[in-house]
Amino acid sequence: MKTYISPWPETASLPGFPRALSILGATGSIGDSAFKVIRKHPDLFTVTALAGGRNGKKLARLCAEFRPGFACVLDDGARKEFLDNLPAGYAPEVLVGPEGYARLAALPQADMVLSAIVGAAGFEPTLAAAEAGKMICLANKESLVLGGHLIRRACAGSGAVIMPVDSEHNALFQGLCGHGDDGELKRLILTASGGPFRGRDRQFLESVTREQALNHPNWSMGAKISVDSATLMNKGLELIEACHLYGLSPHLVDVVVHPQSIVHSLVEYVDGSQLAHLGMPDMQVPIAFCMSYPARVAVDVPQLNLADVGSLTFEKPNLDAFPCLRLAQEAFAAGPSHPTVLNAVNEVAVAAFLNGKIRFTDIPAMIEVALGRHREADVSTPEAVLALDAQSRREAETMP
Ligand code: NAD
Ligand code: MG
Repeated sequence: MKTYISPWPETASLPGFPRALSILGATGSIGDSAFKVIRKHPDLFTVTALAGGRNGKKLARLCAEFRPGFACVLDDGARKEFLDNLPAGYAPEVLVGPEGYARLAALPQADMVLSAIVGAAGFEPTLAAAEAGKMICLANKESLVLGGHLIRRACAGSGAVIMPVDSEHNALFQGLCGHGDDGELKRLILTASGGPFRGRDRQFLESVTREQALNHPNWSMGAKISVDSATLMNKGLELIEACHLYGLSPHLVDVVVHPQSIVHSLVEYVDGSQLAHLGMPDMQVPIAFCMSYPARVAVDVPQLNLADVGSLTFEKPNLDAFPCLRLAQEAFAAGPSHPTVLNAVNEVAVAAFLNGKIRFTDIPAMIEVALGRHREADVSTPEAVLALDAQSRREAETMP
């Protein structure tokens, strides 16, 4: 079987230590985990730039601690809050908005970029990091869903390397280690926790609340990805992410529900061997793996004791109750512009659900309508991708 797997990063092409980091989405949940790793290994990592969204106060606190030369926030309100909270005698260069994020992603002073903005807003900075040849620790899966083909092309042109932070893809990266396009790979198996509503039927899902959806059983994450986990869209986005990262068609990527979130994914080879990656569900583990690759460094995560866990269970995903996974599979198969639409409408629908405007079950319904209407469109340039993203959002916002 002919497959293409992303080239293994040549150790010689990776930056040495200490590695200078630009962190985008620094004030979020991935940022919190990354700072735990950085605080534990100040000899290995330095912070060149920090970017947040609207939380200027938190970004100022982080900047006061790590003293980067550059910072970026989303708007002027956040800029004021940021500046008001900076300690006296410290004045980083402060940028505002999308151009600022892209500039921080491509800073010559940074070796590595942690791409951890949530949603499509992460696309342009991730592309900028790819064009600038950075070592990219990629948490922002939406950027690959939106325009993975453009990011891959940019990496191929510049020598940029993508290290997958997403725990499943990090597990796959480790399971694929040493194997290139050698015909030995059979399939990838993504594990899914099943989210807070695993085992529930459609009728139950119609009346679930925001608080129930945000209450993930195993992981503590930002609001958007928590809702995506509850709808199983997170696994759909991850399926597309895996196809882009490892150059596979979707029929080579399966999903199995594993409620304990201890097995983070598996790689199956033609001899029937399945290599699994196990660990505690804590994002410090994949973040540290990416940032220190090819070295491994200690992290402050409780030890995994399988005897204490007792049993690991597995089941098939229920695509009737959770159609988002199916919709993502169909979108990826339908053509390169369909995932852009899927992602945009999902973001609008999740925000509407979080704001109490629609029901949980309206999320897949809106996406299904939008994909049904969509005709394959040009996504061969970043401008075309962003235009389709914007158009899909406008259409989603006017849905009844
Ligand atoms: P979060 O909501 O906790 O944090 C998001 C960050 O992005 C914050 O710093 C926020 O200020 C910033 N941000 C929001 N909107 C922005 C905009 N328009 N422009 C610039 N910055 C903006 O989210 P998170 O849980 O940390 O997730 C971040 C990314 O990592 C997502 O793509 C998510 O899918 C992915 N991811 C997260 C986890 C996890 O455990 N949290 C695991 C795997 C992948
Ligand atoms: Mg994941």
